[in-house]
Amino acid sequence: MEVINKIYMIWGDKCGRFPFSNSLYIDDKIKTIIDTGAGYHKYSKFNGEVDLIINSHYHLDHIRYNYLFSNAEIIIHESDISAMQDLNKFAKTYGGELVFGSEWIDKWEKEISSQANKHSSQGFVYESEYFKSIGKVHNTYSSGDKVSCGNIIFEIVHTPGHSAGHCSFFFPEQNLCFATDYNVGSSFGPWYGGEDSDLDLLIQSAKKLIDLDAKYYINSHDQQIYYKKDFSTKLEEFLEVIEVREKQILDLIEKGYSVKDLCNEGIIYSKKYLYLEWVKIWETVMIIKHINRLEEKGILKCILKW
Ligand SMILES: [Zn+2]
Repeated sequence: MEVINKIYMIWGDKCGRFPFSNSLYIDDKIKTIIDTGAGYHKYSKFNGEVDLIINSHYHLDHIRYNYLFSNAEIIIHESDISAMQDLNKFAKTYGGELVFGSEWIDKWEKEISSQANKHSSQGFVYESEYFKSIGKVHNTYSSGDKVSCGNIIFEIVHTPGHSAGHCSFFFPEQNLCFATDYNVGSSFGPWYGGEDSDLDLLIQSAKKLIDLDAKYYINSHDQQIYYKKDFSTKLEEFLEVIEVREKQILDLIEKGYSVKDLCNEGIIYSKKYLYLEWVKIWETVMIIKHINRLEEKGILKCILKW
């Protein structure tokens, strides 16, 4: 779908819901795609003929189909490139070692290398197809860089917090902001389940997006073009989810919950998904981020039992 002259959205499969995401395509002298998680068939018309792939961050739903573009230069923010170097660093940055230890990462790596696209009861994060793009990034970009595709020029807006190198993209002439994982249309709320995530930075970065002189906002996981006013209202509701989670955590701590109890409660993800090891990692990391934040703010004074 052409959003504005020569700028197209490739909406992700399943309405862009995780583990898919939207891509933005710029049909200019330098043919450019931002993020490659829309779906395998969504990229068939390009026959791999794209010059530049820009990843907004290292998460698997945004980098998944980089491997289809073997002739393209692939770039990512300098703070996220290490996570893309190999599977081990990828899993570590996501928090795999923190939650299950380094041996678990070795086991996971072995398993996905032998799975060859077979379905696992552990879900998509055990399917090797998802990981073909890791280790295939060529270069980095930095905060504030301007990217010229020929006639269309856009700016890199570093919006850390979701991941250390998470970026959004501002097209000043088109008044457009691709706000990537500020998924204001989802009731899930913000995600900060990587070891490199930072809750307070995520909130600060949201303000950066609103301060842009943009009229239109698009994100990675729904199919809406928001006017600034609507995006701004939705963004506030989106960030309020953090406070709701925090309150729930505090209430449960009052009742005597240990860290382990909190991680098993299904505060972020539904309890029924916690048997999935990767979901368990993200749930645990997010709970730990909240506990650390409560301690830093001086709200949590007792030492919690693990
Ligand atoms: Zn993400």
